[in-house]
Amino acid sequence: MNRINRYLNPIERLGNGENSFFLPLIANISLSILSEMYAYGIAHNPMIVGMYIIFLNAAFIIYFSFRDGVLGGFISAIITVLYYFYIIYTRHYSGQQFTAGVDTTIMLGLIYLMLALIIGWLKQTIDKLIGREANEKIWLQTIMQQLAVGVIITDNKGRIVQTNKQLEHILGMKLPLGFHMGRDSNPLFTTMDNKPKVPAQSTFYQTLKTNKPVVGREFSIQRKDGKNLVVQVNSSLIRNKKKKVIAAASIISDITQQKELERQKDDFLSMASHELKTPITSLKMFIDLQRQQLEEKNSQKAKYFNERIGDQANRLKELTNDLLDVSRIQTNKFRFNSEEFDIASVIHDTVEGLQGTTKGHEIFIKGAKNQQVRADRYRIYQVLVNLLSNAIKYSSAGKKILVEAKRDKDEIIVSVQDFGIGISKTQQEKIFERLYQVTDTQEKTFPGLGLGLYISKQIIERHKGKIWVKSTKGKGSTFFFSLPLRIPKG
Ligand code: ADP
Repeated sequence: MNRINRYLNPIERLGNGENSFFLPLIANISLSILSEMYAYGIAHNPMIVGMYIIFLNAAFIIYFSFRDGVLGGFISAIITVLYYFYIIYTRHYSGQQFTAGVDTTIMLGLIYLMLALIIGWLKQTIDKLIGREANEKIWLQTIMQQLAVGVIITDNKGRIVQTNKQLEHILGMKLPLGFHMGRDSNPLFTTMDNKPKVPAQSTFYQTLKTNKPVVGREFSIQRKDGKNLVVQVNSSLIRNKKKKVIAAASIISDITQQKELERQKDDFLSMASHELKTPITSLKMFIDLQRQQLEEKNSQKAKYFNERIGDQANRLKELTNDLLDVSRIQTNKFRFNSEEFDIASVIHDTVEGLQGTTKGHEIFIKGAKNQQVRADRYRIYQVLVNLLSNAIKYSSAGKKILVEAKRDKDEIIVSVQDFGIGISKTQQEKIFERLYQVTDTQEKTFPGLGLGLYISKQIIERHKGKIWVKSTKGKGSTFFFSLPLRIPKG
């Protein structure tokens, strides 16, 4: 039924630009044949063809001009005129009757053609306008769906008339069309600004509802799935030619990550300056003391101050090296010098070096025998230093630290175990992220920039190895890393 309606109803067909040639042709010829059959077959009076056919033809011309444009109207008009001439010819008109018939046919023909032209032209113009509008709508919708930001179009009352997929993605669910911003009190997410009693009164909804343009307003939102977001809203008003506001278009951008990065950057800057301040202040203090001591020629004390200066200068060097490594990783300039070496010897060197820095801990080595790897010796040493210094730093109570190297098929797995403060399950995945530090009250007291494990992870992964941790809060942690072994061929 619907298809027939779409096929025959000229209004339904407006805008699709599909104008048929054959339908008006066949329909008008059929009408003429039926009219002839009626005159000869039913009425038995050929002269009966008169007024009724004029009306029927006019109706056909109007219908086909409206359905198929100028062409449809013209075809109908021409067939009608030809049929009238056929009638004049077959009814053997003569004299005045003939002249009157021809005159009337020519006049009617002209009227029919005019009718076809005017209605057909109107229909084609409407077709073009509707088609253009439909195209614009399709373009607009396609562009809207492709945008990386969420879009909400509301009418001048604040009811949603259009949204896009990205908005659904940001908000975690679809805002239904017709949803009334600023009135519907059953919102699909909670806005956390000022904790309004009726959620629809929150400034987020109000912003999308009002008739004022909005630039860069930020809102905290909690989605139904519990995720907290920071979104930025920019709205502009859509006016008609008479400058009356008819709708508002709002762009919703998810800036949670950007905010988090900004926060990290700020934290990092304050931490980096804090970390750098400590060794610099100490350096300055020891240099001053040493100068005094040198003036008093007490060489024993001067030696002690010299050592402290050395320690603090080393700490400064480590901090700046870490910062440099991170910037190299970020800019893809982190390079390695590969060589073949025995990992056991690096473990021994590192443990020996670090044992000297702590009096409270004893570091034991287990199972590290000659195991050849092909890697950057200095970088692997750097990873071991990181893991061991963390083990020392985060286990002031536990005295023992175990370092073990175990072969597992084609890899060597190195572990560093401490019996210190441990790391909770939720933090374990995050500690390898750049700048990540556990910020529980217990950990807050430890110095550091949260870069060591991040750099270590980059080094190990670039050697096609893995790094991970097993830990129980309050009991201690074991950090592991694996490296492919260099197995002699044959
Ligand atoms: P930092 O400079 O803060 O030590 P790291 O990247 O080396 O940076 O470590 C990241 C975080 O992981 C630390 O801030 C700390 O909270 C946690 N962490 C690392 N090693 C240990 C460990 N052995 N025991 C407990 N926590 C640790």
